Amino acid sequence: MKLTFLGTGTSQGVPVVACQCPVCLSESPKDKRLRASVMIETESLCLVVDAGPDFRQQMLMHKVRHLNGILLTHEHTDHIFGLDDIRAFNWVQKQPTDIYAEERVQVAIRRVFDYVFAHYQYPGIPQMHLHLLENKSFMIGDLEVQPIRGFHYKLPVFGFRFGKLAYVTDVNRLDHEEIDKLRGLDVLVLNALRKDEHISHYNLQQALEVIAEVKPGKAYLTHLSHQMGFHNEVQEELPENVYLAYDGLQLMVD
Ligand SMILES: [Zn+2]
Ligand SMILES: [Zn+2]
Ligand SMILES: [Zn+2]
Repeated sequence: MKLTFLGTGTSQGVPVVACQCPVCLSESPKDKRLRASVMIETESLCLVVDAGPDFRQQMLMHKVRHLNGILLTHEHTDHIFGLDDIRAFNWVQKQPTDIYAEERVQVAIRRVFDYVFAHYQYPGIPQMHLHLLENKSFMIGDLEVQPIRGFHYKLPVFGFRFGKLAYVTDVNRLDHEEIDKLRGLDVLVLNALRKDEHISHYNLQQALEVIAEVKPGKAYLTHLSHQMGFHNEVQEELPENVYLAYDGLQLMVD
């Protein structure tokens, strides 16, 4: 299984428009972060988790020609606003794109992309095939997907486990039974917004506490704000086997 970080930034990305802070002015490619998303590839599947406003650019950069589905963590703008661009895959693959989302997220998609579900189908609009996500394992082709329930302040969101890999973002609370689903991982990807506390995201310290509890082989932090600091400086401060993810990073996971 190959994991590709398509984006590792928080909702505004890094650099932030009009921000003059040193991180936003950094010339290091590792300080440039598109909106958070990952791609999971197996021999037979190519899946993406979330499709934010940078989805088009991410698909072009990684030359993605075939998508087997998009898993949605939740309905915030930075996770769904790229969905209109599935049109290209509809055209090439001659079929609707499979989108996996829980009920509340589907309601939001039907509202935001109301033209997709309108009675009159304007020619060329995106075609979505919505699948209901619940907090139980399911299969996409030959890949088992285990949803992980987390909380983003009060909003329930889903992370996903695929074998020895799990991707959990936009949470600041995981209950015990969900934490237990994260044991025995080779790779855990977890959100860490910045060093200061935040109402709806783990900060660095809180993310490190979860990592220390579940003890993955390696952990990668994502959904990073410009307020986290320079990639290279923050990386130096992290415990062994914990890394800041960066855009374009690829990992092989069994
Ligand atoms: Zn987000
Ligand atoms: Zn900034
Ligand atoms: Zn969010």
